Order: sequence, then C-alpha cells, then structure tokens
Amino acid sequence: MVAAPRPPRFDAMTDDAALEVARVAAAAPDWPMLAAVNRPCVACPELAATRQHVVVGDVPAGGRPRFALVGEAPGATEDDTGRPFVGRSGALLDQLLGEAGLSRAEAAVLNIVKCRPPGNRTPRTPEVARCSGWLRRQLELLDPPVVVALGLSSAKWFLGPRTVLAQVRARPHAVGGRAVWATYHPSAAIRFGPNGAPRAGLLADLRAVAGTLA
Ligand code: SF4
Repeated sequence: MVAAPRPPRFDAMTDDAALEVARVAAAAPDWPMLAAVNRPCVACPELAATRQHVVVGDVPAGGRPRFALVGEAPGATEDDTGRPFVGRSGALLDQLLGEAGLSRAEAAVLNIVKCRPPGNRTPRTPEVARCSGWLRRQLELLDPPVVVALGLSSAKWFLGPRTVLAQVRARPHAVGGRAVWATYHPSAAIRFGPNGAPRAGLLADLRAVAGTLA
C-alpha cells in the first residue's frame, strides 16, 4: 500500500462553526446518536436554508461495514429522499458494485458534505471544512477497513488538495489506518457514457477493491 503524502485537506481549515460541529460530533457515542445530532445541523447557512434533508448516510444493518463508499454531496434525488446515492448515479453504482462482486448492503455509503449544494454546485471549502467533523466521526465509529473515495472532491479530502485522480487511482493508499482507494464518481461514468474511460476505470477499481476483501 502507498502511504498518503499529506494529511486530509481540511483538518487545518477551521472556523467557529467547524469547531462546533467537530465538538458535537466527537461527543456522539454511536451511529444513531451521531445521526440524530447531525440531522438538525445548520452550520452552513446557505445549504441549511435550501436543503430538504441532511443526508447523513446509509450503514449496514449490523456490524462493521466491509468498506465505505464516500462521495461528494447529495444530489436532487438524495435531497428529496434523505438517502445517499439513490438517483441515476446510485443506480449505476449499484450495478457496478454487483458486477465487481460487491454488495452495497455490506457498505457504509457516505458523502463528504451532507447537504445538497444549490444547483448541484461544487461544495465550497468552508462547507467541506464544517462537514468534515461529521465525516471524521462517522469513520471513527464505523471503522471501515477500506474506503472508496468516489470522485475528485472525495479523493482530495482523503489524499490532499493536489490530488490528481489519474495519478492516485487503481491502488490503495494508507490513510489513518485504512486502505483508501480513489476512483471516478458514477456521475462521471454517466457523463462519458457506457464506453467511456470513467465507467471502465470505476469498475476496474471496484473489482480491485473486491479482490482485497475476498
Ligand atoms: S453541509 Fe454539513 S456542516 Fe453544513 S449544514 Fe449540512 S450537515 Fe451541517
């Protein structure tokens, strides 16, 4: 495994709201309590005013997840339903997980930002910094041995701000005692079509992850 060259991107970028999120999250003793204190979060005023739901994430019914899938932020369908990866990207992700021999039921499904940015814009740095406290505590409590970072924003959260996806994918990186794989987001696989490189790369990476979990 390759050691990550630098710590996660947003640890040092804190404001008062980010510190408060981190404090509240760190005090949650388990997943149900963490989800309960996450749902009313208003640390990002614009996102809190426009979202329908805080999309906390999905976890396996029992026990430690075999792996975690971590995307960028909820889209419209996720915001409507309150669940991660349930729109077109989620359908493709489920299909490719199945082709790779992986089951979503064994995974934690998370995002680095829990509220939908208006118009699906990219989350802003302060928003990611504030929401990092929730994700860090989720990972502490769930303790997945393997993380699959879906898309560049997630890859940067784990591997640093200068991450270039093409340079880091297809192999694990040691981050905080976990094996972190960075790969394409399913939305890129949709955008470039069924014969595009992102879909093939995402499937190849999921198959490689499955090989390490066998
Ligand atoms: S994006 Fe995260 S930190 Fe910001 S309001 Fe939503 S849950 Fe809170």
